[in-house]
Amino acid sequence: MNEQSENVMDFYEMELDERILKAIAKLGWQKPTLIQEKSIPLLLEGKDVLLRARTGSGKTAAFAIPVIQKILNGKQTSMHQETKALILAPSKELCQQICQVIKHLTTKCSREVKCINIALSDDITSQKPLLVEKPDLIISTPGKVLQHIKAQNLNLKTSLDMLVIDEADLIFSFGFESEVKELLQFLPNIFQAILASATLSNDVQNLKKLVLHNPVTLKLEEPDLAPASQLSHYHLHAEELDKATILYALLKLHLIRGKTVIFVNTVDKCYKLKLYLEQFGIRTCVLNSELPATIRCHSVNQFNQDVYDIIIASDEKALEAPGAIEDFKAIKSSKRDKDKNSGVARGIDFQCVANVINFDFPLDSNSYIHRAGRTARGNNQGSVLSFISLKEKPCLTEIDNYFRKHGEDKSIFKLYQFKLEEVEAFKYRAKDAWRAVTKIAIREARLKEIKQEILNSEKLKSYFEDNPTDLKVLRHDKALHTVRIQPHLADVPDYIVPDTLKALTGIGKKNKRKRKNKIMQHSTKLKAKRSNPLLSMQFEDFKKKKKN
Ligand code: AMP
Repeated sequence: MNEQSENVMDFYEMELDERILKAIAKLGWQKPTLIQEKSIPLLLEGKDVLLRARTGSGKTAAFAIPVIQKILNGKQTSMHQETKALILAPSKELCQQICQVIKHLTTKCSREVKCINIALSDDITSQKPLLVEKPDLIISTPGKVLQHIKAQNLNLKTSLDMLVIDEADLIFSFGFESEVKELLQFLPNIFQAILASATLSNDVQNLKKLVLHNPVTLKLEEPDLAPASQLSHYHLHAEELDKATILYALLKLHLIRGKTVIFVNTVDKCYKLKLYLEQFGIRTCVLNSELPATIRCHSVNQFNQDVYDIIIASDEKALEAPGAIEDFKAIKSSKRDKDKNSGVARGIDFQCVANVINFDFPLDSNSYIHRAGRTARGNNQGSVLSFISLKEKPCLTEIDNYFRKHGEDKSIFKLYQFKLEEVEAFKYRAKDAWRAVTKIAIREARLKEIKQEILNSEKLKSYFEDNPTDLKVLRHDKALHTVRIQPHLADVPDYIVPDTLKALTGIGKKNKRKRKNKIMQHSTKLKAKRSNPLLSMQFEDFKKKKKN
């Protein structure tokens, strides 16, 4: 099956309940993704399905929509409140993510379809009353649901109609094999089963034999990267200080629209960049594998809820799956993470990322693919902008060659036109700010943040679990203040705005309010254009436009 193939079916043609269709419309999803188009009808027919699909393909909704539909169907004939569906995932983070998708899809029928996620809390006694109410849908890790069944808080033997196992390939690797086998004994003999997995490893084949009956296997032949019509790749040659200058200019001049994930290659660089941007009043949130899993998860959730626009990630491994299994084994053996329901990085999903910026270029094609995969998800547009230093050039060539060997007929990388001379004035400020971030400042920031976040993590576990609305006050983009802040640096005085940009946006007019309005109008105009989020930076084009 080819992802480029034409979608033949729309959501409204799938005989879905009006309330689900309204929720989908509210999410702004215009068309089903390929995996949704193929799997939803099969699942509605009651088939067992093995779905091979990567995170980002829309696979959560591919199983969630039919599950919700079938629960609604059941309500028409049965008056009994019973748990009809169980969704298993290998980590708390993934359970929470699935739960959010389901909450969004059930906004118009939340009274009819009751869904709970029991993976988050460690205290099974406090969850018991929730289970007594027999929610229609339970989301859990295998271990947690088994604990409840054994404590007789839950009985699925006669009620369960549907079982979904998400990230099935990780279920075994994360040591849930025995739990799943044991759990099956507490389920009815017949139920519809769905396995979703990024790979079809031997473990998945084993699980398939255990759980599925005459399944349909949906194997999407997915390319490594989203198609060029959806995802643009730019590169720009610059050494470190120039990279910093350009980034500052792009952000301050509103030339990057939408949410952005900036990748660097080390944890130190993560803080260096945060402290550097902090001096210009640019708030960012950092994400790296040193931070507690709950915090990482909470940061991503807040990013998704538009609390932050910029995340700086130290390495894609903290977020995704290149070698996630190996990473997890290392974590397990080093006893760094005693809770096996936690610390799973695979599939943590950023939503609506418009831009990925490789401040440091990734070291291999796999990393590039995973970073690029953070944007252009579902059917959204995205762009990747890579800053390349002389030292990083060979990596660019290598990665370019890899894509050419794997189906691209020409280089995917377009040169990003940016004239450094145009932002010379930014360079002075950038130089001072970059130098101000000393090694000591970085070390202090790193320690400060970890202490702060461990404290937050404790708070998260207890208080915030019971008071989810208060979670909003817990932010992760607070200034770390290990570098002296000079308030004037937050402003962009007229004289440093490049002429080409003034001509296009009117920035540079004496009247400050007018200037601010113009910038706002400019960024709204940019937001309105649904095309490539980075096209606005082509200074050369601006000049041509001006001449015409
Ligand atoms: P998933 O593969 O389930 O992790 O989904 C990846 C992203 O795609 C999520 O941010 C979803 O909100 C988004 N998404 C899922 N289905 C669609 C769709 N039909 N149209 C647009 N975006 C979607």
